Amino acid sequence: MALAFDEYGRPFIIIREQEQKTRLRGLDAQKANISAGKAVARILRTSLGPKGMDKMLQSPDGDVTITNDGATILEQMDVDNQIAKLMVELSRSEDYEIGDGTTGVVVMAGALLEQAEKLLERGIHPIRIAEGYEMASKIAFEHLEHIAHKFEFSATDVEPLIQTCMTTLSSKILPAFGSGNSVNRCKRSMAEIAVKAVLAVADLERKDVNLELIKVEGKVGGKLEDTELIYGIVVDKDMSHPQMPKQIEDAKIAILTCPFEPPKPKTKHKVDIDSVEKFQTLREQERKYFDDMVQKCKDVGATLVICQWGFDDEANHLLMHRNLPAVRWVGGVELELIAIATGGRIVPRFQELTPEKLGRAILKLLDRNKMMIEETKRSLHDALCVARNLIRNKSIVYGGGSAEISCSIAVEAAADKYPGVEQYAIRAFADALDAIPMALAENSGLQPIETLSAVKSQQIKDNNSCCGIDCNDVGTNDMREQNVFETLIGKQQQILLATQVVKMILKIDDVISPFDY
Ligand code: ADP
Ligand code: MG
Repeated sequence: MALAFDEYGRPFIIIREQEQKTRLRGLDAQKANISAGKAVARILRTSLGPKGMDKMLQSPDGDVTITNDGATILEQMDVDNQIAKLMVELSRSEDYEIGDGTTGVVVMAGALLEQAEKLLERGIHPIRIAEGYEMASKIAFEHLEHIAHKFEFSATDVEPLIQTCMTTLSSKILPAFGSGNSVNRCKRSMAEIAVKAVLAVADLERKDVNLELIKVEGKVGGKLEDTELIYGIVVDKDMSHPQMPKQIEDAKIAILTCPFEPPKPKTKHKVDIDSVEKFQTLREQERKYFDDMVQKCKDVGATLVICQWGFDDEANHLLMHRNLPAVRWVGGVELELIAIATGGRIVPRFQELTPEKLGRAILKLLDRNKMMIEETKRSLHDALCVARNLIRNKSIVYGGGSAEISCSIAVEAAADKYPGVEQYAIRAFADALDAIPMALAENSGLQPIETLSAVKSQQIKDNNSCCGIDCNDVGTNDMREQNVFETLIGKQQQILLATQVVKMILKIDDVISPFDY
């Protein structure tokens, strides 16, 4: 693309290979972009909530993923359209910052786009819409603070945290088991695991949790109930030799990132071996070299070697023989975690091995259908994030669409105060907020519009911002009684991010792209 000027000094744009490009401008560009964004949101809409549907996605190499996690669906979808990619980014950023609410944020953005389309058709300028949305999102943001509750828990009373994690888990894989007692027990134990894990690494004073210190490992075989929490590190590796001891009491660990084997002759060296004796000497030397290495480990007191590299069968046999258990091919990240957890140092050069650098641990190597595992991992990730968010900030808002309905009422009421065209956009924003409870109702087999209007009028009548959609047919609309809530920061972030993306899409009025997309 080049910028040129005509004889009157007016700028114009030259696009090279004009015939190979398509160009959409003005309203056409906005409409095309909106419909792309809406299409993505439509896909996720049916996955929202405790009764949301799962999606089955097949990757180009035939791997199948079954999930209802928004971020994962979009990640796997391999979208081509640039605007659709923005929606993928949107879900990813919610995942990155909050960890949960990745479906909701896309559904919200889709609803905002849908409302914007109507306003565009009525001749309202996209910038006016963007401004109105911005104002409305501020109103909703502040209103959320207004209706937020404090969530009380302490290191000794973690029951509320467990309840919250159970809410998060309930919308993911666990419903797929059907219902019944065993499912609930399982859900509870998973939630407990999540909470215990987060508390184990949490710094309650500084209100911070480093989720990197929690690792979720999946193993095929066994039951979901077999899931257990290990305080320490699970290295999913076997000992390098099957006859090495599986359990080591009070281990002292040498953590090596250097190869643990005799030096291999490099190609640039030449070794002439023309007799059996010479070969024997060389072999003997190599053996001796390795033997010294093993001795060195033993001398500094190591009872276990964890090595980033592999070692060959001979070395392995020797280790076995010298009674020095070893684990090979341990990844760099795991090595780091092991070093942190055992108070050891990673040793990059063999000569640097000293007794102080050994890690100490009572180490236990854990021996224990792939799609289920992956989805369970994702649900656990959401639960971990929710627990972390609550430790960071104790404010919550109630779920089941109740917070959105309450915001919608507040935004609608505020719209009247604005004299300009923004008023329409603000009202449209209020309507878009209703999309979340509507989707929840629809996915639970309820009449969306009737359910929504009933709940809305109940909220106004009782002045109770906790009325939401009774997705599981519990018999009450009060989400406080149902114990369904989400973190305040999560909900606020959803509204902010969705508004930002929609504003960005609305401001694009010229799309130039290669012809064949
Ligand atoms: P996301 O990826 O956005 O977290 P989910 O599928 O987890 O999507 O659905 C979250 C939505 O479902 C939230 O609006 C939450 O309030 C609602 N929700 C979760 N559990 C329940 C429940 N038991 N009853 C009603 N609504 C629920
Ligand atoms: Mg969720």
